[in-house]
Amino acid sequence: PPPVLAVVGRPNVGKSTLVNRILGRREAVVQDTPGVTRDRVSYPADWSGRQFTLVDTGGWERDAKGLGSRVADQAEIAIALADAVLFVVDAVVGPTDEDEYVVRMLRRAGKPTLLVANKVDDQRGEADAALLWSLGLGEPYPVSALHGRGSGDLLDAALEVL
Ligand code: GDP
Ligand code: MG
Repeated sequence: PPPVLAVVGRPNVGKSTLVNRILGRREAVVQDTPGVTRDRVSYPADWSGRQFTLVDTGGWERDAKGLGSRVADQAEIAIALADAVLFVVDAVVGPTDEDEYVVRMLRRAGKPTLLVANKVDDQRGEADAALLWSLGLGEPYPVSALHGRGSGDLLDAALEVL
């Protein structure tokens, strides 16, 4: 079977938008309302002639019960089943406590992980992306899932660890 690339991160950072960008079509549901993708959804994808399975997930949201929910469980399952992970952060918002929570979870999982600094729509956003070095996951890849900026470089890097 093709290798599995999971897309994780807290709600509203642009995971589903990135999935659609990678697929080259609008299949994953994008919403302004956080937390729309409640489950894992797998899509066949390819890049540079390599086939892989792309998994969109819901995210980690702080609610009355604290961090963790059925949605978060699905994201953790997606990571466990993945060969590599795209961890998406909103570079405009910057790193949040929820992002830090996911970082710890990713460390425990020990899967190859690329840090996606999303919503870098123009050159000015590059500085926001650089601040994400503080998460300790290595080089942030500046991307605009919405406009496509940086997504090719990201996928090239992802295929190297997949
Ligand atoms: P998810 O909850 O992480 O799957 O996030 P979505 O993909 O549903 O996107 C949440 C919101 O962020 C939507 O309004 C998107 O249009 C917006 N968004 C996603 N990617 C980008 C981006 O690269 N730039 C900007 N400006 N907005 C984005
Ligand atoms: Mg989504």
